[in-house]
Amino acid sequence: MKNFLRYVLGGLLSALTVSFLMWAILGPLWGLVTLCAFFAAVAARDAWQLQELNRWLRRHELGSMPHPTGAWGLVFSQLFRLEKHTAQTQNKLREALERFQQAGIVLPNGVVVIDASDRIQWCNPSAETHFGIDLKQDREQSLTYLVRRPEFVEYLAQTQHDDPLILRRMQGTSLSLSIQMVPYSNNQRLLVSYDITQVEKDERVRQDFVANVSHELRTPITVVGGFIETLLEGETLEPALLRRVLGTMQSQTQRMQNLVEELLSLSRLEGQHTPAPETPVAADLLMRQLVQMAEQLSKGRHEVRGILKTPDIILGADNELLSAFGNLVTNAVRYTPEGGKITLQWELERGEGVFSVQDTGIGIASEHIPRLTERFYRVDLARSRETGGTGLGLAIVKQVLLHHDARLEVSSQPGQGSIFSVRMPVARVIAATHTQSALNL
Ligand code: ADP
Repeated sequence: MKNFLRYVLGGLLSALTVSFLMWAILGPLWGLVTLCAFFAAVAARDAWQLQELNRWLRRHELGSMPHPTGAWGLVFSQLFRLEKHTAQTQNKLREALERFQQAGIVLPNGVVVIDASDRIQWCNPSAETHFGIDLKQDREQSLTYLVRRPEFVEYLAQTQHDDPLILRRMQGTSLSLSIQMVPYSNNQRLLVSYDITQVEKDERVRQDFVANVSHELRTPITVVGGFIETLLEGETLEPALLRRVLGTMQSQTQRMQNLVEELLSLSRLEGQHTPAPETPVAADLLMRQLVQMAEQLSKGRHEVRGILKTPDIILGADNELLSAFGNLVTNAVRYTPEGGKITLQWELERGEGVFSVQDTGIGIASEHIPRLTERFYRVDLARSRETGGTGLGLAIVKQVLLHHDARLEVSSQPGQGSIFSVRMPVARVIAATHTQSALNL
């Protein structure tokens, strides 16, 4: 400001001094002519600079700004500074906006900005999926036109939104959403949607699990409790009947014990989040144990065979492998009527170790196969109970295999028998260094 005044007053003072000198030397007319010439020159310069300013404002490029000297130079340099500052602020704002939009795009939650009349102003990709919006097409479209559910329309119309709204089966799918309106600005509102499909599914699984466990325990507890009551009432039972009653109590207690043990082992397996250890387990030893187990369970009712194609080494947790493979063997014995054949086999297939149990039992219809490893899933509940099954065997197998990066394959035909095969990954098998002909165990 001080510089600016110095320039203006300095110029004026020089003009007055020169004019006064002209007046003194050449007379008043020349003094006046000099002063007029000075003002004319100033007016011409200002007009030129204004035109320059106007031209620059139209082009509006920081680099092309004129750089005159004097008072106009000061004005332009102030303008230059202001422009630079504005450009920097704009850049920062643009970057912040881009960051915000980027965050909105990758956010797993849906975000929709709507105006006071529920018209869509902006939304992120998650919201497009949740509400079936196509932002390019549906901008300015009313959200209630796209989501016509009465409870949703009513929720948007409310003035208070303390609780979220739960919407199930969105767009005719299994998608469940929790929707919350968030205060935003006077004429814009923010709608946030959370996908709660998995949370609800997990909750259902948990409730089913508790119901199943209670159901499984209720029968044996009722049976044992009933007998104890009878005995407490002092009823004298024939020795043969008493033996039968005690036998039933023992088998029901055993059933509860099996269930609790399997539940504990399932919960232990589900709690493991690191891969199984890589302890060397000799396939021939494991196969011998499994064949022995099958023979003990069968008690001579089946023809049991064990075939070891190559004596490889499996890298895994030996107790878990024995329990998983053992469950497949137990099932084969359970679901194969007397006189049937059960064949256990270990072989290598393209580097993968394959353990399979083949039986000539009752078989399984194809619609049941994908659900066999669900907890408590049984094709025939009565038959499973009759044979001492808990419905947890294949769920345990699934967990053990997950722990070993292995997978289960099932092929079965009702009335023809089944083949349950476990495929151990290449990384968990050390192929035998020496070849030998298949060994019948
Ligand atoms: P369970 O204790 O009832 O045997 P599992 O989880 O081991 O429970 O098996 C689930 C169901 O799969 C069984 O109830 C049975 O219906 C079916 N299943 C399993 N293995 C066989 C098999 N080898 N042959 C026929 N059905 C089988």
